[in-house]
Amino acid sequence: HIPSHTIIQLIIACYLSTQFHINDALLPNKIQSFDIASKLKNDLESITKASTDHGNLIHDKPSSVLYPSSIDDIVALVKLSNNCSSPFTVSAKGCGHSVRGQAMSRSGVVIDMTSLNKHDHKNNMNNDAKNENYDSGIRVSWSSSLGYYADVGGEQLWIDVLRATIEHGLAPLSWTDYLYLTVGGTLSNGGISGQSFLHGPQISNVLELDVVTGKGAFVTCSEHINSELFFAVLGGLGQFGIITRARIVLDKAPTRAKWIRLLYEDFTMFTSDQETLISTVNNGPDYVEGSLITDHSPPNNWRSSFYSHAHQSKIHSLLKNNQGLLYSIELVKYYHDDQSVSTIDEEIHSLLKDLNFIPGFIFKKDVTITEFLTRVARTDNEKGSSVQSQAHPWLNLFVPKSRIHDFNAGVLVHIIARHKQTSGPILFYPLNRKKWDDRMSAVVPDEDIFYTLGLLHSCRVDESEDFDRLNNKIMEFCEKAGIRIKQYLPHYKSKEDWAKHFGDKWKIFQERKLKFDPEMILSPGQKIFNYDD
Ligand code: FAD
Repeated sequence: HIPSHTIIQLIIACYLSTQFHINDALLPNKIQSFDIASKLKNDLESITKASTDHGNLIHDKPSSVLYPSSIDDIVALVKLSNNCSSPFTVSAKGCGHSVRGQAMSRSGVVIDMTSLNKHDHKNNMNNDAKNENYDSGIRVSWSSSLGYYADVGGEQLWIDVLRATIEHGLAPLSWTDYLYLTVGGTLSNGGISGQSFLHGPQISNVLELDVVTGKGAFVTCSEHINSELFFAVLGGLGQFGIITRARIVLDKAPTRAKWIRLLYEDFTMFTSDQETLISTVNNGPDYVEGSLITDHSPPNNWRSSFYSHAHQSKIHSLLKNNQGLLYSIELVKYYHDDQSVSTIDEEIHSLLKDLNFIPGFIFKKDVTITEFLTRVARTDNEKGSSVQSQAHPWLNLFVPKSRIHDFNAGVLVHIIARHKQTSGPILFYPLNRKKWDDRMSAVVPDEDIFYTLGLLHSCRVDESEDFDRLNNKIMEFCEKAGIRIKQYLPHYKSKEDWAKHFGDKWKIFQERKLKFDPEMILSPGQKIFNYDD
């Protein structure tokens, strides 16, 4: 950690030291780096915001916050850190939707990436892009080799990507449920939703990236150029570089969605129907998720208010007769306005005819594609306040398919459904491993199909320890039962746990860190290479 003086002072000191003996290759534009001092703030509001995230559990304070107006500012900051005798840490912060301080930088600098969005985007692009008519931070293009794609600033929100692409009748293939997340933030993790079984996570739908590495180098990378950096950064938890542009695959956007929910009492039928749906090759669904309904996780919640009053009372009586636990499949079939409704209805009929949901417990909606993709409303902390009343001690796991029945008995039935406090949505749905590229940093269980569990707890801050105990109980159960789960959006406290998490990839993860961020500057809040003293 840096002693008591602020990063602003440090930067001035660094700048002055460069006048005498600093390696010029690392700091080509000294005046520009001095300029960033005016974009560093350490007022109470900046520091409070940078030390708050959606989880509201960790509050690591940085020394300052950089509000960049161009990528050059980010390059200059990272180079300055490298040039200091005791480098300071740097964390890119998208929207701070992490729940365990992953975008924080104790005593270092947090880069408020969304600040790039308030400036002229021509400054945020490399020279090729500057020649184009690029003024929204999102540029839609086509080429004969790549088809349609969008070049998107790492600071952009997925909701804005949707708005900009749909204007052209196009859209990305892979989404998150919630669109008020930055492109750089989700690509540092994975980016999953009900489309992932078909198109892979968001990290599998990227053609090219611009990255500022931990050494302060601005590098364009793809599967073919600088591929090691490309694969390191995707799912790399911010450890290797700061994503400033992503080239995202687009396709013709559907116009409407037939949106269906099916209810189950029986876990075996629920999961075997989910697996049937994700394996249907011809005219299959475009989106498949699933969730648990319990007394504490009712059918409607902040994530989705799908059910009418009448539906809800019907579901509540069923819940009572089924020991307080039901399972629900959510599936969607996209279609185009010009398609005949009878054709799409026939396709849906053939998808549903052999499924084993409870007779009569099928609920349907027909909505526009935008209504469907924006179904999760903005959360409170989007409204600009740095003060939150709720904590979110979330736990997200990937569970190998071969153990889901043990997981259901031990975790879903015995731990989660019996937990007496209010929690939040509980998601449970399958993903296909073949849609994840093993060269990427993201880790998933070693089986063709695995399930994701999302325990999206919401509680008072003073209740969060109870939820941590609940989460630990789940992890301990899996450990004892030998269920080889992986955490998604992982949070660990020791090097041993990180090594175990990455498994075979740990060696390469460490080697890549030494190569791209040898001073261990980037994303210290993940606590993979930077520990609390
Ligand atoms: P931040 O929390 O700001 O940052 C996360 C990490 O990425 C940090 O380590 C940070 O340093 C790093 N980082 C941020 N920007 C960059 C960048 N440009 N370059 C390199 N590193 C960077 N996830 C899903 O997969 N699917 C969902 O459906 C989903 N729904 C969510 C709903 C809500 C309400 C919330 C709060 C979260 C949800 N998430 C979901 C989780 C979300 O994807 C992660 O929290 C993600 O990190 C959020 O992006 P952010 O922009 O807020 O990132």
